[in-house]
Amino acid sequence: MQDIRIGHGYDVHALADGLRLVLGGVEIEHSKGCVAHSDGDVAIHAICDALLGALALGDIGKLFPDTSMEFKGIDSKILLRRVCDVVEQKGYKISNIDCTIAMQRPKLRPHIDTMRQTLADVMGVDVDRVSVKATTTECLGFEGREEGVSTHAVALLIK
Ligand code: MG
Repeated sequence: MQDIRIGHGYDVHALADGLRLVLGGVEIEHSKGCVAHSDGDVAIHAICDALLGALALGDIGKLFPDTSMEFKGIDSKILLRRVCDVVEQKGYKISNIDCTIAMQRPKLRPHIDTMRQTLADVMGVDVDRVSVKATTTECLGFEGREEGVSTHAVALLIK
């Protein structure tokens, strides 16, 4: 019987003026960016947690502690690749990934396909297995007040 695993990930980062904004492995021109120990790629962090969650391996903070200088300012694509290595070592393949980024501004639509291709390349899967969606929160909550960004992600793994 096929072993099918589902995982869920959720991450939030605060926004602050003058920082780089990196989402789904893509740098986006904006006046604000994510406050973080790494590059603050909240989308990749949620995807990592979904992959780890599918295998019940804890979360991204367990694998890559934010107290470690090794991960200071690190490109989150490197973290995602390392998580994919773990998935492969355990004998699983990524069936598909779906994530939703909640952010009021800027409009993410023009960057979605670049994010999908970037993530697919890092994970070594076809782009049609990677879905990235974006939503505003209708000006409600911390995302709506532009205080932060959140991402939900799910991953399906097959052995
Ligand atoms: Mg994070």
